[in-house]
Amino acid sequence: MPARPSGPGRLDVGDIAVDFLPDGAIRHDPAASYPGSSHALWASSAEYLDEDGRLVMSLGALLVRTGGHTVLVDLGWGPSSTDLVDPATGAPNGRIEGGQLLDSLAAIGVAPAEVEAVLFSHLHRDHVGWLGDPGHPTFPSATYLVADAELDHWRGAGRTGIGPAPTAEQLAAVEGRGHAVADGDTPFPGISVLATPGHTPGHLSFVLSSGDGRAVVLGDAVHCPVEITEPELAFVVDVDPALAQRTRRHLEQELLRPGTIAAGPHFPDVVFGRLLPGNGRPSWSFTRP
Ligand SMILES: [Zn+2]
Repeated sequence: MPARPSGPGRLDVGDIAVDFLPDGAIRHDPAASYPGSSHALWASSAEYLDEDGRLVMSLGALLVRTGGHTVLVDLGWGPSSTDLVDPATGAPNGRIEGGQLLDSLAAIGVAPAEVEAVLFSHLHRDHVGWLGDPGHPTFPSATYLVADAELDHWRGAGRTGIGPAPTAEQLAAVEGRGHAVADGDTPFPGISVLATPGHTPGHLSFVLSSGDGRAVVLGDAVHCPVEITEPELAFVVDVDPALAQRTRRHLEQELLRPGTIAAGPHFPDVVFGRLLPGNGRPSWSFTRP
């Protein structure tokens, strides 16, 4: 069956409620997105491709409700759509379409003003799209939690506004309401911060735990499930591809801990799954909604 962007989805982790809020989709050429990957690999990984052979990535945010707190992880692409280009060649490479996030939030009965914080996995543009306009934040009550290393990276000269980078305005908006979080912090009950650098220098994942429940919100440390089962793959916009690969090996061990659910907001079809130990190579189990 061809891949589709995920619709809304709910996961309960003990007493923590997690909702995937769709914003749209990214569709792009798999070989261009993973430089050096073979057509044979994609022929054998067709479950991640649409009917035109394009790699499908869901696009959206996760709403996490824990201990009376309501927080978002990331802010999607925002209310626009655009064609993508291959950063290496400038050739067309698919399309990114956003715009659904606030409707997805309304559909589960949550108002933007109820969101008290946004946890940023990183600051690529498809994760900061719903910041709002200067002086008119989309989530007016929210503070922004982000790694210092992430802000430091994008403050570097000439880094904003290029390819997947945040714009200078988006970076300033995050800095203006930003508070630092770091590896091991627990900013809210049941949410702990796990540094997962490589895709970007300050990339964070988040471990949710309550009772016997455990989930790891991967962010873009793992874009597509195939990055775990094909460990030599490198995603085209990983800032440090070798470090990103080492981080994924560490996350593989996290995901193989018994009872752990993976939340991959870019995963196609359904963003929640389990990594199962295999005979030398793990495999994924997903339940379509
Ligand atoms: Zn992303």
